[in-house]
Amino acid sequence: MIQKSPSFLIILSAPSGGGKSTILNEILKISDNVDYSVSFTTRKPRGVEQNGIHYHFVDETEFKKRIDDGDFLEYANVFGNWYGTSISYIKARLAAGKHVIMDIDVQGASLISATDVPYVKVFIIPPSMDVLRERLVLRATDSAEEIAKRLNTAKDELAFIPHYDYLVVNDDLQQAVSDVQAIIRAEENRVNRYIEPVEGFLTQEKHND
Ligand code: ADP
Ligand code: 5GP
Repeated sequence: MIQKSPSFLIILSAPSGGGKSTILNEILKISDNVDYSVSFTTRKPRGVEQNGIHYHFVDETEFKKRIDDGDFLEYANVFGNWYGTSISYIKARLAAGKHVIMDIDVQGASLISATDVPYVKVFIIPPSMDVLRERLVLRATDSAEEIAKRLNTAKDELAFIPHYDYLVVNDDLQQAVSDVQAIIRAEENRVNRYIEPVEGFLTQEKHND
C-alpha cells in the first residue's frame, strides 16, 4: 500500500492588515484536517480576544521561562511584544495526522525554515499599498499612529517574499481562500511526502496476486 506522511505546517505571513487572520479562519471553517496553532504572546488581549483561543496571553517572565525551557519552535519580537509558537503542541497535532496552520511574522517564519519540521510558507499580499491602508483604516483596531507604523513595517516585510514558497494576492477573499486551499492540496501530494512509494506500490501488487 502506498503511504504518506501527510502532515505539515501551513505558515501564513502578511503585512499587518494583509488578511492572514481572515483567510486562516476561512480555511479552518472548511477543513477538518487543519488545526490552528495558538501562539503565546506578551501583548494584552484586544477586543473580543480570549485566552487560549486567540492567544495564550502571558507576561514577560513566563515568556522568557518558556524560551529557556526550549518550549518554542520559533519566537520573535513584533511591534514591541513577544510572540512564540509552542513546539509540543505542533508536534502532537502533526503526529495526530493534522496540518497545523499559523500566522506568524517574517522573522519567525525564517526561523522555522531552519528546523526539521515539514512546512509550506505562504505570503499573503493585498493588491496594493493603498488597499492595505484602506483595510487597516476600515478594520478600526489601530490608531492612526499605529497604522502608519504598520505600513512602514510592511515595506520591510515585503523583502522576505523570495523566502516563501507561494504568494497569494488577497484581492477577492474567496479567490484567496481557494488559492490557499489549492496550495494545501498540492503540498499533500509532493513526492517527498510519500514513504517509499515504489515499494508501497509493489507490495500492493503482491497482495493482489
Ligand atoms: P491580518 O490578520 O493580516 O492583520 P486581517 O485578516 O485582520 O489581517 O484583515 C484586515 C482587514 O481587512 C479586516 O478588517 C478584514 O475583514 C479585511 N479583509 C481581509 N481580506 C479582505 C478582502 N479580500 N477584501 C476586503 N477586505 C478584506
Ligand atoms: P497581532 O498582535 O496583530 O495579533 O500580531 C502581530 C504580528 O505577530 C503578526 O504579524 C502575526 O503574524 C505575528 N505573530 C502572531 N503569532 C506569532 C508567533 O507565534 N510567532 C511569530 N514569530 N509571530 C507571530
